[in-house]
Amino acid sequence: MINRRTFVGTAAGLAAALAVGIVPAMAEGKGLVGISMPTKSSTRWISDGESMVKEFTALGYETDLQYGEDDIPNQLAQIENMVTKGAKVLIIAAIDGSTLSDILKKAHEAGAKVFAYDRLITKTGDVDYYTTFDNFGVGVLQGTSLVNGLKERFAGVKPWNVELFGGSPDDTNAFYFYDGAMSVLKPLIDSGDIAIVSGQMGMDKVGTLRWDGAVAQARMDNLLSANYTDKKVHGVLAPYDGLSRGIISSLKGVGYAPGPEMPIVTGQDAEVPSVKAMMAGEQYSTVFKDTRELAKVTAKMVDAVMQGKEPEINDTKTYNNEVKVVPSYLLTPYSVGKDDITKMLVDSGYIKAEDLQ
Ligand code: BGC
Repeated sequence: MINRRTFVGTAAGLAAALAVGIVPAMAEGKGLVGISMPTKSSTRWISDGESMVKEFTALGYETDLQYGEDDIPNQLAQIENMVTKGAKVLIIAAIDGSTLSDILKKAHEAGAKVFAYDRLITKTGDVDYYTTFDNFGVGVLQGTSLVNGLKERFAGVKPWNVELFGGSPDDTNAFYFYDGAMSVLKPLIDSGDIAIVSGQMGMDKVGTLRWDGAVAQARMDNLLSANYTDKKVHGVLAPYDGLSRGIISSLKGVGYAPGPEMPIVTGQDAEVPSVKAMMAGEQYSTVFKDTRELAKVTAKMVDAVMQGKEPEINDTKTYNNEVKVVPSYLLTPYSVGKDDITKMLVDSGYIKAEDLQ
């Protein structure tokens, strides 16, 4: 069998390769990095994928970027394929963080390093590092922004009528976001300043499987018709822009419109349609997580590990995945309101000004 590498590098080798009909590899890179992202339905994951390909390519790695489209078997098959192709590193943002144990065991047996990307991979020891943002901090920002908005728009109203939404229960981030937000909201609920009119609290009641905006919209429709025929809702805790858009559609469906009675709706990810909704006065805030930085940090850590060095981490306590505490690097999230859009999102180059027109 012909080893295609023997042909690389010389004109004679190239001619020989062409003569036997083999396309030779270009200069040997540092190896293949498999990048497994959950879905293209949210623009943030598209940006994450693009940024990582850019970073890894610049460092001399080959990449295989795949999107699971929120289908667990699909993501498993894509990762399996990366391992078969000899990936030296897997970067995974899991659809369901608890479903990857078998394939990651195989990956480790094949000598690959495994990085959990933004979403923790649980119930396995076969994960080496975790790169993400301060997820509890994201929730604190969301809770704080909700309260600031209530004070600003509904000063003098008591109690503020609020409903709570959580993210997908198969993503540990959803629990950190919810707990972070509740660390701000719970004291106000206990003091009677905030009323959760439906009584629905806790991730088991407010979680939204697969972060699906349509599911959030349907739940908001039900909450409004069951609890708000004779009251106004003043605020909605939403952990992700895609859910916020569903919730806002539902609110608009019963007559809420931008202005003094529009409920305060939070969000996360600074997605273009939601930033536009903020400019239109529909959504109150979002949380900006610079995914370009996350990609950069991840690529830097991977490169260190590949060179047998210790990568830089800044958290060794928080992310217990039920088998081990995964060494992590956490980046800082930022709250963004209408007045911060230009400075934080456009001037930083995260969103192009023309995309907001
Ligand atoms: C991410 C969020 C995102 C959500 C839905 C979470 O794991 O941390 O940034 O909004 O998934 O895609």
